[in-house]
Amino acid sequence: MNIKFFNLFLALFLFIGSSFAQKQPKYIFFMIGDGMGLNQVQAAEVYKSSLEGKNSVYPTVFSQFPYATFATSHSLSHGVTDSGAGGTALAVGYKTKNGVIAMDSAGVKSYKSIAYLAKEKGMKVGITTSVSIDHATPASFFANQPDRDMYYEIGLDIIKSKFDFFAGSGFLKPTTNAKKEEVASIFPQLEKAGYKLLYGLDDYKKANKADKLILMNKKGTDNVSLKYAIDQKPGDLNLAEITSAAIESLSQGDKGFFLMVEGGKIDWACHSNDGATAVHEVWDFNNAVQKAFEFYQKHPEETLIIVTADHETGGIGVGNGSSTLRLKNLENQKISQEALSAAINEFRSKNENASWDQLKEFLGQHLGLWKAIKVSEDDNEDLHEAYKKSFIEHKNETSKSLYATNDKIASLAIKALNKASSISWASGSHSAAYIPVYAIGVGAEQFHQKMDNVDIPRTVSKVAGWQHP
Ligand SMILES: [Zn+2]
Repeated sequence: MNIKFFNLFLALFLFIGSSFAQKQPKYIFFMIGDGMGLNQVQAAEVYKSSLEGKNSVYPTVFSQFPYATFATSHSLSHGVTDSGAGGTALAVGYKTKNGVIAMDSAGVKSYKSIAYLAKEKGMKVGITTSVSIDHATPASFFANQPDRDMYYEIGLDIIKSKFDFFAGSGFLKPTTNAKKEEVASIFPQLEKAGYKLLYGLDDYKKANKADKLILMNKKGTDNVSLKYAIDQKPGDLNLAEITSAAIESLSQGDKGFFLMVEGGKIDWACHSNDGATAVHEVWDFNNAVQKAFEFYQKHPEETLIIVTADHETGGIGVGNGSSTLRLKNLENQKISQEALSAAINEFRSKNENASWDQLKEFLGQHLGLWKAIKVSEDDNEDLHEAYKKSFIEHKNETSKSLYATNDKIASLAIKALNKASSISWASGSHSAAYIPVYAIGVGAEQFHQKMDNVDIPRTVSKVAGWQHP
């Protein structure tokens, strides 16, 4: 054999060898905690350990994954990304300007997400979230639109995706297009394209799992988002149930699946600087990751799970002066700031001229203030001022964050509780803080060095053997 042929044989041998050695995942979970920076995870873990009286961390499922790193999240236009550009980076592996969904900054060129790459390989695809299906993060995986607010157009992009399973609270603008015109509802169009619309888990249980499914909140309930975990009652749809349903229905195929799961309201709670609610959202997201992890344990040689975030929200800090952490105080908060705000409105309508002591009693019941928790002089004064405005002068004040307009008293009371619980906030907006990346399973070892957000889907493509566009 001459040397040329020998080299050819050697190359062929090495090629075949390497393709056998390089296992590719058949099942891919891509799980995104919206707004979940490293400190959100830390706060959740310290909080849970404090409930056991320990000065430690009680780990989430994902922080026990064998590979973990961190990533930058800046967008093409800004140092601080929004969920449009952040979701786009994670879905398609390209940066764009804030507000855009899976297109270039000019809104001309569409980018193909890794969910489409999975679909092209015959895998089943699921896109799920705890907010609306047309929201920026899930949208980045199935839609291509120049503006994240084009909810109607984003919803219709489900049809071109041909993906197999969608779930979330519902759709924000099913009958109003980007020009604010009333147009044909997206629902009959989705049904015509072969999707079965399911309202609530009972509908899902009755459905043929091999059908293309869209699972939403029960009819007549909230289309904007699932309830905050801290406010959920039995029977309310939650993210872990959605994840289990997705796994079950996507398992109908024989070529594996790609499932994106978003914990969308960690971000919302952080926009409101509501520490206890954010911590409960992280644990709720963790419950969804637990479902993926249980699947992994059954198929360890074929599964890859990535857990990451699109950006950090609020610039949350754990520790705000004292060396003693008091996150345990958060357990006194029984409802979200949003629910508290509604409860205060109801309290006011029944007790128009309530005394300061009556209001203190009310806030004590919901947050433990003045009861289990000492309120600082400054916070006491701020709350008393707001009390006077509202109950004596009868001028109600509100406090606006990105996703909520809350009663001023509710936001001041939550602020006081956060301060007393060693939680501080830099702002009500996103930050440029590093986002965490955790990985387990086939190809997980590729997620090890410091990354940029666009590297995350590109690395998924690489380990899955897909040609990244
Ligand atoms: Zn946000």
